[in-house]
Amino acid sequence: MKSWIEISSSRLAENFRAVQAVTGNEVEVLPVIKADAYGHGAMVCAPVLVEAGAKWLGVDDVAEGAAIREASPHSGTRLLVMCGMELADAPAMVAHGLTPVVWTQEHVAAMERAAQASGHPIKVHLEIETGMGRQGVAPGEDLTRTLERLASSQWVRCEGIMTHLCCSESAGAEITETQRERFAAALDQAITAGLHPEFIHLGNTSAVDEGGTMAWIRDTAKSLGARAMVRTGFAIYGHCLEIEGTHVHAGVLAPKLSPVLCWKTRVIGVREVAAGATVGYGATFVAAQTMRLALLPVGYADGFRRAASSGIGNGWVMIAGRRAPVVGRVSMNLTVVDISGIEDVHEGMDVVLLGEGVTAEDHARWSGTIAYDILCGIRANFEAR
Ligand SMILES: *Cc1c(COP(=O)(O)O)cnc(C)c1O
Repeated sequence: MKSWIEISSSRLAENFRAVQAVTGNEVEVLPVIKADAYGHGAMVCAPVLVEAGAKWLGVDDVAEGAAIREASPHSGTRLLVMCGMELADAPAMVAHGLTPVVWTQEHVAAMERAAQASGHPIKVHLEIETGMGRQGVAPGEDLTRTLERLASSQWVRCEGIMTHLCCSESAGAEITETQRERFAAALDQAITAGLHPEFIHLGNTSAVDEGGTMAWIRDTAKSLGARAMVRTGFAIYGHCLEIEGTHVHAGVLAPKLSPVLCWKTRVIGVREVAAGATVGYGATFVAAQTMRLALLPVGYADGFRRAASSGIGNGWVMIAGRRAPVVGRVSMNLTVVDISGIEDVHEGMDVVLLGEGVTAEDHARWSGTIAYDILCGIRANFEAR
């Protein structure tokens, strides 16, 4: 095995409980396991989260939802399909007991036909567009029509109404205020149209961590006789973005989390080179003195980004608890690291690519991206710890 991922089930469960503790028990926490649980393995993580008390899980599409359902057909866990619905997906949503996020009248009609064909009514969640500009029905004529359609449907029940914040990591962002106002107006309109949603949800990891919107969501849900819900992914895996903005303050959630994933490989070769030796494509690295180098069987094809190369992001890995800097360019399937300062490194020795001493945030900095992108991009096998 070239490289593998170890998941700490206990940390995963603790992170879920930490989110629940911060939101309070009156808020439903939906752990998001889309994108194969942000690279952590949805099949590994889903049972752990359910065991820890999660009643809902958020998946990307029908295929992800169906796979989770098939692995545990009798669990009763609710699966929210969050990232898009194609009309042709409707029968599969029904067949696998998935709950789609819908936002067009065509979505509602497709779900109606599928539910009627199965003989059982189906629950859906309606997304309102308030500023993200991706999914969601826009307030106005479209919303009015969609609400009417849902209110009069015999086969489709609107169980939840949601929106998604675009700047939740910015403390006191004006746009968040605007999004809340638009969402509140849409909720009022939904109630007037005769809908009785059980769940009202907005808020991801940063919204819980930043905290400014939590009282609002609790109060708003309560005033409508509904349960508040948050959809947290990143936090479940032990990460938060830094909070930005004019009134920056420490997050309430971030200090309570620990990273769940460790990505490892093994040394497949050790060599000594003399001063003047070149390493890697472009011969960008020239040894200034005698050096000892270790060869690792991972590269950018495995998600170890090329930006970690020396002279670009200047990344490192951890060997025997010490930093071994990347030497030269990261190749497609191979990377060379400097082990001159580390004694007794030998072939077959474990190497930490991401974990203790080298975080997803470090990788993100080298590559000019966010840790979400790094975690989802890892291509390795899973090994439960
Ligand atoms: C991915 C996603 C989330 C989770 O976001 P995190 O920042 O990982 O907590 C929540 N809601 C929606 C709609 C999403 O697409």
